[in-house]
Amino acid sequence: MTITWKGAKAFTKGREGHKVKNIVVHWVGEGNLETAHTWFNRITAKTSAHYGVENTKVYQWVKDEDTAWAVGDWVGNLESISIEHSATPTRPATEQTYLTSAELIRTLCRDFGLPIDKETIRPHKFYKATACPGTIDIDKLISLAKEEPMSANLFDPEKDLPTWLEDSYDLKDKPWYDKRGDFGDLVTVTDQLYQSEQILTRQIETLNETLRISDLRRAELASTVSERDKMITTLTNEINGLKNDVEGFKVDISHIEDDLTGAMAKNIKLLQTIDKLNAKLDNDYSLISWIKTWLKRLTSLFQK
Ligand SMILES: [Zn+2]
Repeated sequence: MTITWKGAKAFTKGREGHKVKNIVVHWVGEGNLETAHTWFNRITAKTSAHYGVENTKVYQWVKDEDTAWAVGDWVGNLESISIEHSATPTRPATEQTYLTSAELIRTLCRDFGLPIDKETIRPHKFYKATACPGTIDIDKLISLAKEEPMSANLFDPEKDLPTWLEDSYDLKDKPWYDKRGDFGDLVTVTDQLYQSEQILTRQIETLNETLRISDLRRAELASTVSERDKMITTLTNEINGLKNDVEGFKVDISHIEDDLTGAMAKNIKLLQTIDKLNAKLDNDYSLISWIKTWLKRLTSLFQK
């Protein structure tokens, strides 16, 4: 039986000096265990219970040493431990809920040294007028709680064999009866084994939870990696495209360079031709001015 600590808003620290004498049986009446949990944790919560049972699930809202606001009678609250059961008018408690609750009741009665009977285990309506605990069968809970579990952990190894066991099986007639101290040791060992098993079960649960979380993380990482790979592929394709463009531009540039070189060569030839023409023009001018000079002289000679 694994008890999950949940906590509640409404309770009183300690028990004002009172001892635990009773276990009070309730039903949630509507909804389920989660509904009860939500109810006990509203800001305006005015009620609570120590435990709640639904199939194999056991929630604890108030510590055993503290007082739950559960039964509607203050001394009743101070002297009891309240257990909620998941059941409603249309939904009876399951067999598993009965078995789990019986185990819890057995453990609490052992811890508080209480007898498992109708005087100890009471319905809520014992304390006030209420329908609670509805369809929950308290006699059934009591008889299930009385049945010893498969494991021997509920024997008190400090004591001799329980009388019910002696009576049921005529153990006093057995040849080894006087060696029941050894049986006590066996009970201690079995008890320790049972405790180890419980610890191991809890560790296995924790490990399974860890495994489940790490599987989730691994799946998340795998999807992140595949998305990143896709991005890398896309970027690589873009880069390759750009590289091709650059190669194309390089070819274009070399063509333009060739064209420019050709154009410059033509230019130089043109400039040379212009130079030559200029030189010829210069010659022609000097010839013309020489002819002009001589024409002037000849004219002046003819005028004389
Ligand atoms: Zn109740």
